[in-house]
Amino acid sequence: MSRNDFNPEKRPHHLILILGDQLDHQAAVFDDFDPDADALWMAENANEATHVWCHKRRLAFFFAAMRHFRDEQRERGRIVHYHALGRRPSDDRGKDFAEILTKDVHRLHPDKLILTRPGDLRVLQMLQDTAADLDVQLEIREDRHFFVTSDAFSDWADGKKDLVMEHFYRAQRRRTGLLMREDGKPEGGAWNFDEDNRKTFSKEGPIDLPSPRRFRPDEVTRTVLDMVEARFADHPGSLDGFDLPVTHDEALAALRDFVSKRLSRFGDYEDAMWCGETTLYHSRLSAAMNVKLLDPKFCLDKVVAAYEKGDAPINSVEGFVRQVLGWREFIRGVYWLHMPDYAERNNLQCDDREVPSFFWNGKTDMVCVADCMAGLLQHAWTHHIPRLMVLGQFAMLLGVHPYRFHTWHMAMYLDAVDWVSLPNALGMSQHGDGGIVGTKPYCASGNYIDRMGNYCRNCCYNPKHATGEDACPFTTLYWDFLARHHQRFADNTRMTFQVRNLERKSEDDLQAIRKQADHISECINKGIRV
Ligand code: SF4
Repeated sequence: MSRNDFNPEKRPHHLILILGDQLDHQAAVFDDFDPDADALWMAENANEATHVWCHKRRLAFFFAAMRHFRDEQRERGRIVHYHALGRRPSDDRGKDFAEILTKDVHRLHPDKLILTRPGDLRVLQMLQDTAADLDVQLEIREDRHFFVTSDAFSDWADGKKDLVMEHFYRAQRRRTGLLMREDGKPEGGAWNFDEDNRKTFSKEGPIDLPSPRRFRPDEVTRTVLDMVEARFADHPGSLDGFDLPVTHDEALAALRDFVSKRLSRFGDYEDAMWCGETTLYHSRLSAAMNVKLLDPKFCLDKVVAAYEKGDAPINSVEGFVRQVLGWREFIRGVYWLHMPDYAERNNLQCDDREVPSFFWNGKTDMVCVADCMAGLLQHAWTHHIPRLMVLGQFAMLLGVHPYRFHTWHMAMYLDAVDWVSLPNALGMSQHGDGGIVGTKPYCASGNYIDRMGNYCRNCCYNPKHATGEDACPFTTLYWDFLARHHQRFADNTRMTFQVRNLERKSEDDLQAIRKQADHISECINKGIRV
């Protein structure tokens, strides 16, 4: 039968479900795909867009990438049943996956549903429940995008008291041979060049900073931008200058741009920040990788090839490899090993506190937070230090509930999918998991932020002061945080230095800090600008 004879309403043998973060043409669900008998199913749905108050750019990125994937599949001659959100809710075919899928299964009567393992346990369970209700078989296939399956991670973790990322990372380097010499030793003579990844800029700031490659929206993307602007007008963030890669070809071009223009300095300035410069030398590829527009193995090969050609130094290349082969795989393993209990963890026993209002609109006098928020509202992305040590740290010091922070992170960051956000946001950033992904909380006074960028020079606060008119809220809240959790951290050997410094403070100092911290907290609760 030729493609032209194929009736899209004909009963498909297999209906392949493709979620918004599964845009992988090489996925296992296509292994036995029969274009004459099978079909694909994709749906944009309003519930996924609104159950957290999503950044407009994040919504547009997902929907534009999905629609391009749909079109690429159709160009391959495949039938795709696709549900696009319209400008009005009344245009929708259903409010969530379960409702839309139920209608389509009743209409199409597939013999079987096939799905790549989703990156969100809630979505997996919802689709399993829907299939059970419909009495249709659902086959889940492994996500080959990753280097390590959840079963293999479980085997690695079995019997270990603590899960140490560095041990996992070295095992993956040995297993894959990436950045390994023939004698079994790590390339460059060390496993880790962390110490060489913490340079800061001189007073002049970054010199000859190349702008990341921009991608002009085509008609498909423009339709999405128009729909998101019309339908989600009150959502945070901006669509102005939308320039994200939304196809595989564009994502490959973004990778080439990073490797040729920014990789060589990425390592040196991995932790640095600078006012008005959101990307600096970072790749900004995490979102494209997390929706599977980019294959991580391919990215690593390109980055390692740059090292082998002498185009990039070892601290840059190893830093990138550690992020992708080490950290990214490690946290995915942690997610599947510890879910669903992981999402309930609240190690620091925080109250049910939400993120401050300026985490949505950026209106604050703290220059560091205001600048990171400006970047986030514009790009729906910041690199890891603004994410961890400015925004994440502020939430933790203030006592925001770790799951609330994760929910906010899911809403605001392009690259956040449940498997990557929960361990990073609730775990690493908020220390909510009690030390599974980080043996100590990431906390520091305003002095750290002062050292890593130029924010404090133009700020009305003084990072050295914990109390008084010009006290830096980070510094106040940092000491208050340590004091509140003194007993908890007293036996943590990685916190010894910080705990000793706290213990040197007089009772009067600690009381003044407590009072100032309460004042900051109260102002934030009342919506008074800080
Ligand atoms: Fe941020 Fe404090 Fe520095 Fe101001 S003084 S920029 S609030 S760290």
